[in-house]
Amino acid sequence: MPGGEPPLGAYRRKRDFERTPEPRGGRGSAGAEPVFVVQKHDARRLHYDFRLQVGSVLKSWAVPKGPSLDPRDKRLATPTEDHPLEYADFEGVIPKGEYGGGTVLVWDHGTYRNLTEDSGEPVPVEQALERGHVAVWLNGSKLRGGFALTRFRTGEDESWLLVKMNDEHAEPSRDILADRPESALSGRTLEEIASAS
Ligand code: MN
Repeated sequence: MPGGEPPLGAYRRKRDFERTPEPRGGRGSAGAEPVFVVQKHDARRLHYDFRLQVGSVLKSWAVPKGPSLDPRDKRLATPTEDHPLEYADFEGVIPKGEYGGGTVLVWDHGTYRNLTEDSGEPVPVEQALERGHVAVWLNGSKLRGGFALTRFRTGEDESWLLVKMNDEHAEPSRDILADRPESALSGRTLEEIASAS
């Protein structure tokens, strides 16, 4: 772990839990299958946060343009701090002025399977992330099938690409973000969540 920081150290340091409704984390328990979540986050700039459960945390990337069902689209994904497992159910409003201030909507969620292989041998997800290439099969309500995350830059500007794999769930002509803007958790829109708080 970089710097020997405890799990969720960066996550907790950035937030004041007296002020934000976000979970502090720590109660999460692992189910049989790892989960994924994509949260639409109307912060300073609208983006989508793509998160995969790895052990007891959610590995996270901010995807400015959101996921695409078109295998030709390479979506920039910038790593962010690990989030607690409970974050997968977080939907609500982070107050203005707080870290990540703005509305959060659970755009899609479900479980995933690690598909990463090297010369036909399965690669554990932790190792795949370290090496900079992970392939997953998503079982969500909007996102299904294979997706690959590939690191193309390391260091301060570490950057990855999120790409739909070419399988029966690819839908090159469909704009899933526009078609299905609502929450997979509550059916609400960003506006409805914002005005309910
Ligand atoms: Mn975010």
